[in-house]
Amino acid sequence: MTDMVGILGNPLNHSLSPAFQQAAFDYYNLDVRYMTWQTTKSELTQKIRELSADRYLGANVTIPYKEDIMAHLDIIDPKALRMGAVNTIAKSKGALVGHNTDGYGFLSTLTSQKEFDFEDRQVLLLGAGGAARAAAHSLSDKGIKRLTIANRTIEKAQTICSEFSDIELQIVSSGISEPEISEIARSADLIINATSIGMKHSGTEEVSLLSADQISPKALVFDMVYNPPITSLLREARRANARIVNGLPMLIHQGALSFKLWTGLNPPIEIMHKAGLNALNSTTNGSI
Ligand code: NAP
Repeated sequence: MTDMVGILGNPLNHSLSPAFQQAAFDYYNLDVRYMTWQTTKSELTQKIRELSADRYLGANVTIPYKEDIMAHLDIIDPKALRMGAVNTIAKSKGALVGHNTDGYGFLSTLTSQKEFDFEDRQVLLLGAGGAARAAAHSLSDKGIKRLTIANRTIEKAQTICSEFSDIELQIVSSGISEPEISEIARSADLIINATSIGMKHSGTEEVSLLSADQISPKALVFDMVYNPPITSLLREARRANARIVNGLPMLIHQGALSFKLWTGLNPPIEIMHKAGLNALNSTTNGSI
């Protein structure tokens, strides 16, 4: 019987995961189907129960269930516990185990795609939701000098900062439109957009949180948004002659670790990236 794995969330119309995960299973000729499980809140408990059956390898979990799902699982990996969110369910001796691979996807993009040197660097992180928390925790032991977390709702930035009380890293919070953000942005070596600003169909596609004159040419600008592939922020970064990376490599790397957790096999990154890019191109051409 064909084994199954899939993505749990709501809505799921634009998810690229089915395309690039299926490409990885097909590469290994595995009899596994990656499904799209659009699930309402009232269906969630039943769906998780189903995952216990042998034919299910596990699942990816996305908005809005990354936090809620934790209460339904048998074991939570310590990293996921620290980040307060689960984006992958895998199995260990029949138990459902919650993992968080977003931080891994984020770091792998910086290290393997961009060869970013963390030592003594200043980082500006825009946003204080789940993706920002994963980024902040991943950066916390990398030797950076200063991390500023700027968010529209400043209390959420303060909450993430308070999770790092026992480390030497200088970590501060800020509002997103405060005057000092310009100064901080200009001296940042790495600027990360972990807000949903700039996403297609969000009504903010034309919005950039920073303009070219606020970005140093020595900076790397990392937008976690991948649709559109070049966001308004990345356009501004290009105008500033800064290096850029969008959210697609992070998406592929986080999914690659999920694949490894389900199968124990080395993920075929290039194949997954190509399949993700093809799916993204057909989305941006309006065919999905
Ligand atoms: P989330 O928990 O809902 O957080 C959303 C963030 O965006 C919050 O900081 C929120 O600020 C901010 N925001 C939303 N609308 C805003 C607006 N109009 N003005 C200013 N700030 C606004 O979402 P998430 O899971 O962290 O995801 C954040 C982004 O990262 C999304 O675009 C998501 O697609 C992307 N992401 C990408 C990957 C990847 O693999 N590439 C992985 C995870 C997430 P408030 O706190 O003030 O509401």
